[in-house]
Amino acid sequence: MGSELENLNQEIISCRKCPRLVAWREDVARVKRKAYKDQEYWGKPVPGFGDPQARVLVVGLAPGAHGSNRTGRQFTGDASGGFLYPALYRAGFANQAQAESRSDGLILKDMYITASARCAPPGNKPSPEELNNCQPYLEREIQIIKPKVIVCLGRVAFERILRIYSIRGASFKFSHGASYRISNSSLNLHPSSLLCSYHPSQQNTLTGKLTGKMFDDVWVKAKELIRDE
Ligand code: SF4
Repeated sequence: MGSELENLNQEIISCRKCPRLVAWREDVARVKRKAYKDQEYWGKPVPGFGDPQARVLVVGLAPGAHGSNRTGRQFTGDASGGFLYPALYRAGFANQAQAESRSDGLILKDMYITASARCAPPGNKPSPEELNNCQPYLEREIQIIKPKVIVCLGRVAFERILRIYSIRGASFKFSHGASYRISNSSLNLHPSSLLCSYHPSQQNTLTGKLTGKMFDDVWVKAKELIRDE
């Protein structure tokens, strides 16, 4: 399984399917933010990260321009990760709260983190076409990992997962803390649960839309859903 994921990640890293995003991610990496001007930016698609045996798959939106587009690891080096990883540490999914670089010693246990799009988009908004281009990578991760629980960080990730599982219907609505059972997919023969959370972007965390307590409750619930399988 490890090598299947490694092969997939190598493929992802060399992807250039979306011309707009390729140009943007490379431009940001060339120009850099002043605070990071001495660093070499990753500037490529950001692969998934974590435990290949994970029962919990976390799906975010897309790399931050100066976060994971700089460091090359999901949610690493920006404010979203600064909110996410301490919560994962408190919940026991991470061995440390800090996430600064690919070599900072961070290890995830029973969790794999990925994204709806792998390249940093302007304004944090990948287009529908770009999300479609990137979807096969997410499908293959699901096929390889066969997660029991998928945690969607934000509405874009939730809608992408509904699309992958061909789920339609008014009963599937994004709201923070909502969970749903899904089954009978060709991608994953095991029944799985979907769990929704607001994305830990500053837009949500600085406004109080997503508090530390609300986020902690998501990871407690993810653990309960694993136990219920
Ligand atoms: S967003 Fe996905 S499909 Fe588009 S270039 Fe990046 S890795 Fe490739």
